[in-house]
Amino acid sequence: MENRYVPIVTRLWKTGTSPYNVGTVHVLHNYIGGRWVPSAATGTIDVHNPAKGTVIARAPLSTPSDLDAAVQAAAAAFPGWSETPPVSRARAMFRFRQMLEDHLEELARLVTTEHGKTLDESRGSVRRGIECVEVACGAPSMLMGYGLENVATDLDCQVMRQPIGVTAAIAPFNFPAMVPLWFLPFAVVCGNTFVLKPSEQVPLSQQRIFELLERCDLPPGVVNLVHGGRAVAEAICDHPGIRAVSFVGSTPVARAVYQRATAAGKRVQALGGAKNFIVVMPDADLDRAIPTIAESFYGCAGERCLAGSVLLPVGAAHGPARDRLVETARALRVGDGLEPGVQMGPVISAAHRDRVQNYVALGLAEGAALALDGRARALPAEGYFVGPTVFDRVSPGTRLGREEIFGPVATVCPVRDLDEAFQIMDAHPNANATSIFTSSGRAAREFAHRATASMVGVNIGVAAPMAYFPFGGARDSFFGDLKVHGRDAFAFYTDQKVTMSRWL
Ligand code: NAD
Repeated sequence: MENRYVPIVTRLWKTGTSPYNVGTVHVLHNYIGGRWVPSAATGTIDVHNPAKGTVIARAPLSTPSDLDAAVQAAAAAFPGWSETPPVSRARAMFRFRQMLEDHLEELARLVTTEHGKTLDESRGSVRRGIECVEVACGAPSMLMGYGLENVATDLDCQVMRQPIGVTAAIAPFNFPAMVPLWFLPFAVVCGNTFVLKPSEQVPLSQQRIFELLERCDLPPGVVNLVHGGRAVAEAICDHPGIRAVSFVGSTPVARAVYQRATAAGKRVQALGGAKNFIVVMPDADLDRAIPTIAESFYGCAGERCLAGSVLLPVGAAHGPARDRLVETARALRVGDGLEPGVQMGPVISAAHRDRVQNYVALGLAEGAALALDGRARALPAEGYFVGPTVFDRVSPGTRLGREEIFGPVATVCPVRDLDEAFQIMDAHPNANATSIFTSSGRAAREFAHRATASMVGVNIGVAAPMAYFPFGGARDSFFGDLKVHGRDAFAFYTDQKVTMSRWL
């Protein structure tokens, strides 16, 4: 492993005109105890630009001993940081917020380069991450406790929120900059110290974000970055020095991480996969609904946990909704997300492209009708592209109708009425997000009330709660109790201490 640390900004932005046109492929370093250090790992994983199919960096497959070094640095920093006044901790987050704001465009380009989503989508995701930091800046108010005098004669009772110790997060590939910011600012502003394992597929934006954090005057060890894959994630679950684990990723891994880390005595929030249903009522205004629905299915190439996956048109909505979705999907401009005008980028990897394409073959074998065949579309020769696809008359019991595809493949499943739509949705193990398109207040009210998914859209295709509201699903889409950001974040990252005092 090379010993010299080469900052991202030098590596990707100052060396050439385009970020993926890099002469030397560097191995990333970990950030532990305020220093960039090479991993003890011998193995690395290639980081690709999925729009070009080129290797742009290598992430070390760090070892449990790398993770242990990070936890020790975080544990050493905890006593000082937890005693730092909340207003001073918040000031560090104000500096971090400004740093992200000043580098928003650069971070967005980095996200597009390593992930593939369009530049506008990347900008939006970095903006969402910044909003998390902004909410965390309110910590002095959000951390306040409460109390009552004379709970018995001359006996006073007071509740205080206190930080819990070393915390850690494990991130997925689909929002390289944003998802870690669901956790880091809240953990740190509450007085905890923090270890992040980003996705090994998209480690570059976090590397850059940690370079920015380095300039925010946080004491060494408060934030730590350990690259790697499953071995680091499992070491996080097992490490006795870590008090709380946040995970975002697929359902099987979310479940495994939840079980493993809770068995080790940790507080855990584990967000899993999704299969999101979008209901279109016959009274929906399709002129307004279809562009929003298409954005839900095909935005970020379908690689969003809030993406629409199954369209449930009710009654007479079926034909028109399907035909207009096909028309809109066919017109999408697919290409390198850095190019102006491109509306849909590639998927993350060659392996994922093949997996998504396998679902197209599977759907045909299961008897679904291809209303738009993405395989027929001319796509860029390099990179990992999948053409927007629409399947019609998909049976909800088939694999195509049930499994998370996580790509630009829409499945249409016509239903008689809202009751049948609910039967299908309620029978699915995932319950992350769902939406209805209607001009009826009655249908909208019924839908919002009966939906068992935790994030509900009414005439909204991607019902993503803002940073000051809770984010997270139900059933197999979420394992845990306290959700992500909003007030829950301050509860997740603190313990409540009750003090009873008698002086008289
Ligand atoms: P993934 O589950 O493959 O990986 C997520 C993280 O877990 C990565 O950091 C990876 O290194 C690590 N990991 C992989 N296998 C592991 C194992 N066996 N044990 C421990 N750790 C392991 O997910 P992904 O492909 O990176 O991300 C896509 C998935 O994430 C989709 O299912 C998507 O729905 C989900 N997601 C959910 C939300 C949500 O809010 N519910 C948000 C974003 C993404």
